Amino acid sequence: MGSLKPNEDLNLHLGSSSSASSSNQIPLIVPKKEPKLEPLDEPLDEAPVYHFQTPLPFYLSPSNNLNSSSSFTITPSQNTPIPPTTPPPSATQQTIPSSANDSSTVYSEFRRISELFNTAFARGGGGGVSGDSAEFEEQDNSRAIVPVDSENENQLSNSVAAPRKYTQRSSELVRVTDLTADDVQYFRGLVRKTRMVYDSIRVLSLIEDEKIRVDLGHYRKSRGDLKAAQLMRERGLWLNRDKRIVGPIPGVEIGDVFFFRMELCVIGLHGQPQAGIDYLSAYQSSNGEPIATSVIVSGGYEDDEDTGEEIIYTGHGGQDKNNRQCMNQKLECGNLGLERSMHYGIEVRVIRGFKYEGSVSGKIYVYDGLYRVVNCWFDVGKSGFGVFKFKLVRIENQPAMGSSILKFAQSLRIRPLEVRPKGYVSLDLSMKKEHVSVFLFNDVDKNNEPVFFEYLLSTVFPPYVYNHGQNGTGCECVGGCVDGCFCAMKNGGDFAYEQNGILVKGKPVIFECGPHCRCPATCRNRVSQKGVRNRLEVFRSRETGWGVRSLDLIQAGAFICEFTGVVLTREQAQIFTMNGDSLVYPSRFPERWAEWGDLSDIYSDYQRPAFPSIPPLDFAMDVSRLRNVACYISHSSSPNALVQPVLYDHNNLSFPHLMLFAMENIPPLREISLDYGVADEWTGKLPICN
Ligand SMILES: [Zn+2]
Ligand SMILES: [Zn+2]
Ligand SMILES: [Zn+2]
Repeated sequence: MGSLKPNEDLNLHLGSSSSASSSNQIPLIVPKKEPKLEPLDEPLDEAPVYHFQTPLPFYLSPSNNLNSSSSFTITPSQNTPIPPTTPPPSATQQTIPSSANDSSTVYSEFRRISELFNTAFARGGGGGVSGDSAEFEEQDNSRAIVPVDSENENQLSNSVAAPRKYTQRSSELVRVTDLTADDVQYFRGLVRKTRMVYDSIRVLSLIEDEKIRVDLGHYRKSRGDLKAAQLMRERGLWLNRDKRIVGPIPGVEIGDVFFFRMELCVIGLHGQPQAGIDYLSAYQSSNGEPIATSVIVSGGYEDDEDTGEEIIYTGHGGQDKNNRQCMNQKLECGNLGLERSMHYGIEVRVIRGFKYEGSVSGKIYVYDGLYRVVNCWFDVGKSGFGVFKFKLVRIENQPAMGSSILKFAQSLRIRPLEVRPKGYVSLDLSMKKEHVSVFLFNDVDKNNEPVFFEYLLSTVFPPYVYNHGQNGTGCECVGGCVDGCFCAMKNGGDFAYEQNGILVKGKPVIFECGPHCRCPATCRNRVSQKGVRNRLEVFRSRETGWGVRSLDLIQAGAFICEFTGVVLTREQAQIFTMNGDSLVYPSRFPERWAEWGDLSDIYSDYQRPAFPSIPPLDFAMDVSRLRNVACYISHSSSPNALVQPVLYDHNNLSFPHLMLFAMENIPPLREISLDYGVADEWTGKLPICN
């Protein structure tokens, strides 16, 4: 077993993106407008409960200020400043084209927004008293399991602060380049935090709707995705509203996956809730020319052709309600924007949307990187009507497309050996102990160590843990647990998971139903005890040694796996420490669970859940002989998985299972990471993983 060295932080391996240029000039003529509409995530059976306000056309907008010093200027001449192929080394962010150089304050603008976020997030840590958790702290009789009612713990409707004014999207086009590693990490964190808030509100609103449904006995389709976007918009939490970013969005990586169209708006990746082409409109642009910044390719147009690296994208307009082409398209709005982007060599972000089994919305959206519009022509489409076509070619030297990774992972799930004939050390490291295979893959070197350890499905606790006081108690829900049952009360009145097993809010500990409950295995309060559901793969990487990734797309908030080991008493641990470094100390995992469901940005009186409280975790786990897949997960200071303590097979609060949940949507084949709380060199990822 090698000696311990501090582990490399996965964040350091985040890809950087390139910017580019080139221009192609095809002069074309202009007429009128209609957005290229894309279907909403779900077809609505009835009017959505939460209406989204579509921004006014700019010519109707009173606040449209074409004379803003920061507006976009382009003169279609030889002198047109075109983004350089490689950014100047000192440049951090370019205003495109830099008409006035005092607008180089753009980067400080980013800092300013960042600061806003920081202060916004810092709020709520100390303050308000009216929250539910204040009430819980009183009863910090940590070892007793007392049903407690916390009526409002999971309600969105409490204490909504006065909405801020919606900010209109800026007319300033900027490109962000040359971020330092710290910046990259910073923006990644910002996007991640924003997405967590989005998901939390979405899930909480589903739960609220579910309660209303039960109370009123009628069915109302939940649109948590819209409500989350609306609430965040009111609170000024949408990102990149004050800049129109050309090229990569800081904090968004190629391959990032989204389940909801509105989420793209929230983070500013694609600012149109329905239109397929996002562009700075002619009315906002100072020279009167629209500029396209992103497109969603979702196969909604019969004349689209998509081979991955090259896309023939059909312009918008001329379709009827059923997406049938019924008239000629015109070179206007987004169509003209794409043509102008081609003319000025401005890159366009491409997001692919497609149906995806297992997605909550039935669809997913994947960010596939930057493309350049290289050609544009007017053609007769399959319908017989005239359509504009744009040829988009992917800019070279970018990380692999997320959509092709999804396809690759799909084929790996079905026929691994055909797709990757070399590199498999084991097709199931768990030896059938898990419900799904845990692959062991190494195409880097000859190391096959993980096969020599016995796979431990679930943590082994000392026998006395099971003889703890209240172990014989459980709920009586023969037909499945319902709100208010004994086990719900143990969790503070609400279940920790929504219907699909997504973690609603991190807590000091979660009580799942156990052997003394009368509910069936399908009870919604049994999630992590059921074991791994995604096909995981332990793999060898040159950068991080052993690592873990999934062949399935893991939704944010979903259970990944347990971190298992053999629990040792303090004395045993001391002896073990002398002969090796295969001990895991649960207390060293930072309380990342508190970030999941943190709505301090939305509610000023938000307090982090303090109930049910548990004593500090004072045990160690030996993983020297018996271990599971979790042991190979890499460390990251901005991890995509968190540790959530869970009890189910006993009620001893001092010995919870360490359950891992996804903190963000983890695309297939992206490395899973955990914050091991690297306090000193002994607490990094276990040396056995290197
Ligand atoms: Zn139950
Ligand atoms: Zn129950
Ligand atoms: Zn129960």
